[in-house]
Amino acid sequence: MLPPQLTPEERARALESATQARRLRADVKAKVKKGELSVGQVIDRANNEPAIAKMRVLELLESQTGIGKIRAIALMDRLKISHSRRIQGLGVHQRLGLLHSLDPTSMRGKLLVLSGPGGVGKSTVATRLKEKSNFWVSISATTRSPRATERDGVDYYFLSEEEFEARVQKDEFLEYAQFAGARYGTPRDGVEKALRDGKNVLLEIEIEGARQVRAHSKEALLVFLSPPSWDELVARLEARGSDSPERRAQRLELARQEMAAAVEFDHVIVNDEVERVVEALVLLAPNQRTLSGPSY
Ligand code: 5GP
Repeated sequence: MLPPQLTPEERARALESATQARRLRADVKAKVKKGELSVGQVIDRANNEPAIAKMRVLELLESQTGIGKIRAIALMDRLKISHSRRIQGLGVHQRLGLLHSLDPTSMRGKLLVLSGPGGVGKSTVATRLKEKSNFWVSISATTRSPRATERDGVDYYFLSEEEFEARVQKDEFLEYAQFAGARYGTPRDGVEKALRDGKNVLLEIEIEGARQVRAHSKEALLVFLSPPSWDELVARLEARGSDSPERRAQRLELARQEMAAAVEFDHVIVNDEVERVVEALVLLAPNQRTLSGPSY
């Protein structure tokens, strides 16, 4: 079949739009070179911008500083991407492989640490966050006894002192601390796996543990949950019928010290309304990279 005959005007328009597309690609490559755009951002933009979708993968990779032609070709060979492939022709796994090779951290989920004084409502927020979002909420280990409504493996892993200590010795905790007469720790493996799988992770822990995470992990974002007022916090602690009076007094004194730690955190959120806190936390973590390919 013969190609359709174009009128001179149509031909002029087609030429003009091809020129604009070339200019856009040149501009995008220049921005990648200057570090103003990442390869990942360009690949994302290709989903909506046909001119970018037509860019050759090799040219895109070469424009990133530090990747010469040889490295770009080696990377493409490893991912079985033909040298003439355009972005629009990349398969889902090739896209993810490219992003992962260029920036292994781009695939990881965000690690959010929610801390604050005992009784401020961290666990209610964590439970709601789990229901409402794609966050993976870590289940801690503790040596304290379960409360009436708590279940082993759901609320906590309830361990004996010996079991807890054995895990400390095997370096199985990402962080651990003593709190009001009991030990609490975050199992390391689950958190690492979830982050590797690209899930956003929430740790709901007390201040000392949050400090340990800060010391060992640059990627963590620390959020301090603050009560609307000190009186409100006292009322909440007093309302905990399940604790003995000595334990309540201990918790109150601790809470006083804990409130002073707010300045060490990246963000302070006032727990005036659970839904608002949950929304604020969701906004702090980027959406997970989806596995969906382009829609054309
Ligand atoms: P509760 O005994 O009331 O469940 O928790 C007491 C405190 O321990 C709370 O402030 C809670 O956030 C904290 N906590 C729970 N799990 C962990 C953990 O794995 N590590 C640390 N450091 N604190 C935890």
